Formats: sequence, C-alpha cells, structure tokens
Amino acid sequence: MYDIVIIGSGITGSSIARQLSKYKLRIAVIDKASELPAGASRANSSMIHGGFDDKPGTMKAKFCVPGNKLWHRLKDTLDVHLDECGSYVCAFNDDEVRHLEVLLQQGKANGSPGVEIISGDKMREKEPNVSPGIVAALWSPEAGIINNFEAVNAMIESAQINGAELHLETVATGLITEGGNVRGVSTSKGDFLAPIVINAGGVHSGEIASWAGDTSFRIIPTKGEYFLLDRSTGGTITSFLFSCPSKAGKGVTVLRTAEGNLMAGPTATEQLDPEDRSTTPEGLAEVLKGARRLVPNFPVNMNITTFAGVRANTESGDFEISALKTPRGFVNVAGIKSPGFTSAPAIAEYIAELLQEEFADLATFAPNEKFIPEHRNIPRFLYMDMAGRKALAENDPAYAQIVCRCETVTEGQVLEAIRRGARTVSAVKMMTRAGTGRCQGGFCCPRVAEILSRELGIPLDQITRHGGESRLLVGKTKEFLLKGAV
Ligand SMILES: Cc1cc2nc3c(=O)[nH]c(=O)nc-3n(C[C@H](O)[C@H](O)[C@H](O)COP(=O)(O)OP(=O)(O)OC[C@H]3O[C@@H](n4cnc5c(N)ncnc54)[C@H](O)[C@@H]3O)c2cc1C
Repeated sequence: MYDIVIIGSGITGSSIARQLSKYKLRIAVIDKASELPAGASRANSSMIHGGFDDKPGTMKAKFCVPGNKLWHRLKDTLDVHLDECGSYVCAFNDDEVRHLEVLLQQGKANGSPGVEIISGDKMREKEPNVSPGIVAALWSPEAGIINNFEAVNAMIESAQINGAELHLETVATGLITEGGNVRGVSTSKGDFLAPIVINAGGVHSGEIASWAGDTSFRIIPTKGEYFLLDRSTGGTITSFLFSCPSKAGKGVTVLRTAEGNLMAGPTATEQLDPEDRSTTPEGLAEVLKGARRLVPNFPVNMNITTFAGVRANTESGDFEISALKTPRGFVNVAGIKSPGFTSAPAIAEYIAELLQEEFADLATFAPNEKFIPEHRNIPRFLYMDMAGRKALAENDPAYAQIVCRCETVTEGQVLEAIRRGARTVSAVKMMTRAGTGRCQGGFCCPRVAEILSRELGIPLDQITRHGGESRLLVGKTKEFLLKGAV
C-alpha cells in the first residue's frame, strides 16, 4: 500500500518522485525497463532550452524557463554535468531573420534571460567553423547541455535516498478503480495499491490515460535520428546550433554533448510504433545535409554510432497535464515532448502543488524533515587529476583497474554502479559511461559482463545487455556447430 504510484521513471517520473519525497509519502515508481533512462529521456538532444521557442500561454512556455533555472541550481546539488554553453538559432536569409524576431519576442514574453539577435560575423568570432552563409543568429546565453544519463539516475537515486521505491522490470498493465476512485495499478509483478496514480509513461502515456477512460488526447510517436561523433571532435563548436524552425519542426541541430562529443540531429518522422528506435539511411542523410548547412566541415568520418529517440508528440502540440475528476486520484503528466527534459523539475514542483490542492484528503503532505537534497555521482575517474586518481586507487585498488579504455572507466566505478542497482551491461554504461566511447563497448563489454556475473553471482550466459532476452552469450561456439545452427 502506497500513497502515490508513479508509472514511468524517465526524467518526468523521477523528477516528480524526488519532489514528492520532500513529503512523508510512501512513493512507488514503476518502470518496465531494466535500466534508466529508457524512453525519450535516454535518446534526445539533452538541451536545457533557453525558453524562446514556445508560444506564450502554453504549458511548454510555462515550465521551460523555470525548468532551465532549476537545472542551473540542481546541477551542483545532484552532481550532474551541465555545460552552460548557450545556444544560437541560425538564420541564412531575410525570412529566417524575421523569424528570429518572432523568437526574440517570444523569449522576452516567456522571461528567457539575455536573448538577443547578433550578426553572423559576430557569431563566427566565437564559432569559426559555422557556415559563412549565416547572416544573423539568436543568442540565448542561459541554454545548456546536460548529461541526460546522469540527470535521470541522479533524480531517481535522490528520490530513493529520501524513501521512494523504484521497481524496474515492472510493466503497468491497468488501473484499479472502485466507485469512481483510483485504488492502484495492476502490473506484471502484482498490484501496487495507492489512492493517487501519476501517469508519466512518455510515449505510452496516451494508452495509460485511456485506462482511466481519458481519450481526450492521442500520442503521435515521432522519431528523431542522430549521429554521435568521437569525443576528439568536440572542439568544432562551443555551443548548441539550431537551424531556424519551420512548419516541419525545430530542424536539424549541431551540438556538443556535456561530455564533449559532437552530435547532429534530430529528424522528425511520425510513426505508428512507439518502440521503433531504428535509424535509417534516409533519416541520417537528412541529418547530414542539415548538419553541413550549419557546419560545412561537419566531420562525419569521426562518427562512432547512430541512434534515435521517439518523442511523445500530441495533436495540441502541448503537454497534457491534468488531474482527472473521475476516476479521482488519476493524474496525467503526459505528452511530455521537447522541452520536456528542461521542464521536468518545474513540472515536478507544479505536480506537488496540484496534488496538495486536489487530494489533501487522500494523502498527508507533511514535510519530510529528513529530506537530503544532495546527491553524489559515481566518481568520474576520467576528469580527475593524478592526485585524485591516486587517492581513490589507494583507498580502493579497484579504482586502479581500467575497464573501459575509451572513457577511462575503472572497475571501482563499475562496482559502485552495481552497488547502486545496475544489473545489465547497458545500466553500467548509463551510470559510468563504460561503452560510450570510440569502440562502443568492443573492449569493455565482456569485462563489464564478467564483473556483473561475479558480483551478482549470476552465470555469465545469463547476463543481458538491457534485460529481457538480450543475453550476450547463448552457448559455446562448438555446441552451435554440432547442432548445425551456424
Ligand atoms: C529526438 C528527441 C529530442 C529531444 N530533445 C530535447 C531537448 O533537447 N531538450 C529537452 O528539454 N527535451 C528534449 N526532448 C524531449 C525529452 O526527451 C522528453 O520530453 C523527456 O525525456 C520525456 O520524459 P518522460 O519521463 O516524460 O518520458 P520517458 O523518458 O519516455 O519515460 C517514460 C517511461 O515510462 C516507462 N513506461 C512506459 N509505459 C510503461 C508501462 N506500461 N509500465 C511501466 N513503465 C512504463 C518507460 O519505460 C519509460 O522509462 C527530446 C525528445 C526526443 C525524442
């Protein structure tokens, strides 16, 4: 029996869980995934938007600037990488310059600090590799790029430190109601009973809302494809470059991740399957064309992987946030598309207020006096100076064993990720960056699997990449030959 069950532990669900853990509430967060982040929070541009892109009066505009401000504070509290690099929207002609004016006015109306239009030449003083065809740009100094893997894990770990429970590999299958009131959620692991259920199911949030009889909105899964380049390319630009938005969307961007990899994308392709995260030759060709328009020498030959994320777009184009009248206790935090990552901490504050206004009779919102705001990340060996590395290794020799050569990740970090709940190779990757580098896990994947097997006492052939049937080893090669399988 809980006070609140949250379906989904992307950046929305985990931010809400942390915010609600400031109260003496029994909170369960359930997610079907084996590791976090899993949905849109795993594969996106990770821009902490400046707040000029959204029409004043929309929910997106309401939460984006406050969310941006909160992230600038939370980065230290939660120990998350945020590159405070600013962003440019680039205009190549008079029409696009006129659009910059619209964005500037929107930014001012939304309270986006410091937005201004500068000339292409002024921009090139700071960004010499951008196209000579850029005639003007909208500069947003408060924009930044966050490490999304760290941010989601820090949010949920902080919520757990403060008493919330996380249940992974738990698929919500239906809503339990009685007499017009919410009673809980049925799942693949039994019923989770609570009078308040929050739907933070991302691209599945439309389907989850329909369990409560709410069919007022529909999710249109919209895929965005990306190139991710080797970290040595990070010096090509210093900030986030947007194309000028058009009716088709925000367009292709070129950015440098919080860890310094050059990246380009996304596309915006509507599809039926919410789980289809495949990349396509057509999508990637579109990204490359858009990237070269902004940065003519975009060094695509240094590409190390491609990937795609799926947005939970809605027909209204806005977030769908509401507490239903019937069944009472059901709250949608649905259709959280871009700028959802930016907005998440502000949405979480709003949800905590909404619950207290609407459901004070269903749960007691007494403050949790023991709330600990701070969260510390797993030590980042790569960024430490020699003295720091030596001290760490002297204290624990596992920090002297390099597991991932590309990203200089040590066995000590892998062990700490396992201690914090990692059970798959991919979970270790999200929590330590082992496998995110140039060789994409070619060197470290077997070593991480061995450490997981040893530490968890699970046979090596039961270790999975990302849960379910994604086992890395399925038998010995010679046995396959004898069975005629190859
Ligand atoms: C291509 C792309 C680019 C983007 N760029 C940006 C950007 O630069 N800046 C920005 O601010 N935002 C950006 N966004 C938007 C941002 O990523 C999302 O708004 C945000 O991640 C949504 O978080 P969420 O927690 O609502 O959803 P998700 O991260 O999708 O989380 C939903 C969770 O619910 C779980 N779930 C679903 N159904 C069930 C079920 N039945 N049972 C149990 N668990 C379930 C899933 O496993 C998942 O973990 C981008 C998104 C995409 C796709």
